[in-house]
Amino acid sequence: MEWETVIGLEVHAQLATKSKIFSGAATAYGAEPNTQACAIDLALPGVLPVLNREVVIMAVKFGLSVGAEVAERSVFARKNYFYPDLPKGYQISQFELPIVKGGSLDILLEDGSIKRVGITRAHLEEDAGKSLHEDFNGMTGLDFNRAGTPLLEIVSEPDLRSAKEAVSYLKTLHTLVRYLEICDGNMQEGSFRCDANVSVRPKGQAALGTRAEIKNVNSFRFVEKAIEYEVQRQIALIERGEKVKQETRLYDSDKNETRPMRSKEEANDYRYFPDPDLLPLCVTSEWVEKIRQTMPELPTQKRVRFEHQYELSAYDASLLAGHKALADYFEAVLKLTPAPAKLVVNWVMGDLAAALNKVNLDISKSPLSPEKMAGLLNRIHDNTLSGKLAKEVFEVLWEGNADTDTIIKERGLEQMTDSSEIEKIIQQIIDKNPTQLAEYQAGKDRLFAFFVGQVMKESRGKANPEQVNALLKEKLKGEMNV
Ligand code: ADP
Ligand code: MG
Repeated sequence: MEWETVIGLEVHAQLATKSKIFSGAATAYGAEPNTQACAIDLALPGVLPVLNREVVIMAVKFGLSVGAEVAERSVFARKNYFYPDLPKGYQISQFELPIVKGGSLDILLEDGSIKRVGITRAHLEEDAGKSLHEDFNGMTGLDFNRAGTPLLEIVSEPDLRSAKEAVSYLKTLHTLVRYLEICDGNMQEGSFRCDANVSVRPKGQAALGTRAEIKNVNSFRFVEKAIEYEVQRQIALIERGEKVKQETRLYDSDKNETRPMRSKEEANDYRYFPDPDLLPLCVTSEWVEKIRQTMPELPTQKRVRFEHQYELSAYDASLLAGHKALADYFEAVLKLTPAPAKLVVNWVMGDLAAALNKVNLDISKSPLSPEKMAGLLNRIHDNTLSGKLAKEVFEVLWEGNADTDTIIKERGLEQMTDSSEIEKIIQQIIDKNPTQLAEYQAGKDRLFAFFVGQVMKESRGKANPEQVNALLKEKLKGEMNV
């Protein structure tokens, strides 16, 4: 039996506001426990929530970026459940009427094609506090700093068909919310986290299988592993004649397995009802238009523009557009050099990216400025430097303050393009290797590479390789006819 995987993701993006969704308390991460929880966050009697205008703007920006409908009227509801880190006894969320409805996200698949993934909805809600189980012997500590932090929950359609597709969707979304500057995307701190709904069905079957929901996986790698494990578990279960239970499961990265979770989510009767403390949220079309004016160029728009404007492949364009600072750097270099875009891409995403990676630096902190990079590319482009010498110059550029032209002069690195000089070297090498010459003449063609190597070595890497090839071919042909 062939099986098809079906995945839908629920992503919680913490909105990057300074204060909370319904109170003025700070949202900064890492403060002393309970120093950023005010009376509203703690649900002291008599307090009332007041909606933070900024979270609405951020949700609208997101809606516009995925081509969704921004609801003119949405409603905050109370989601009731009991848990110690939820002091009100309910979470304020949006249920029947979310602020963002529909839309889609285009993701890049491994084969280079683009897939459109449906977005069901995105709604605003508040985060809960945090239960701390580790530092307290036999007791649980409660930190309410996170209580009331604004979240945008983004729910996808069950359109994803593999763990890899799910990761691609997540990465695309992660890039998008950072472009929009509505979420810092920090996964270690939990600013961007995801629940994965996973089911399997026989290939060709239209009805969806029963799903399990894997909670709160906080890295791309773990999402992929958790889904892969879960898919295998479900297939094995069904093939044994058993049934998949609809339940919430937890991924254990140490054991690389998912297991059923005993949690607040289990009692699935939330008794949602409109929160009487909050008015319906009305977003006029004038306001939406005003927000639309402030939208930056989005990753997809940038990718398409790069493909057309610079004639880059979809792959190169989407890698660049996937990282705003990288795209900015690329364009800054291009403005400063006549070198073709493809050459710039190769150096920025090749040698420069590798060097940055080695020392764990983001491109925005590159010690090599766009000016310096352009200086190097100028000399590659006008053939002063061969690829090999360029790498040597790059190393020196990376280490210090010198610029390319100075390095070339100081080290005498100009490429040798004078054919009479190259011919002289070729003659020397042929004279020095009569045995190889005889063997080559006897038909051992692969010795050609030997001669190229010797010539390159003799020129200390400076001879222009294309010229060496052409001249050597001619010369050896000539020798044959003697
Ligand atoms: P809930 O709110 O109980 O988690 P929803 O019906 O809103 O349930 O679905 C949440 C997520 O689960 C969505 O992303 C949706 O695409 C996904 N989903 C729903 N049914 C399935 C299924 N059978 N297999 C995989 N994903 C599913
Ligand atoms: Mg859910």
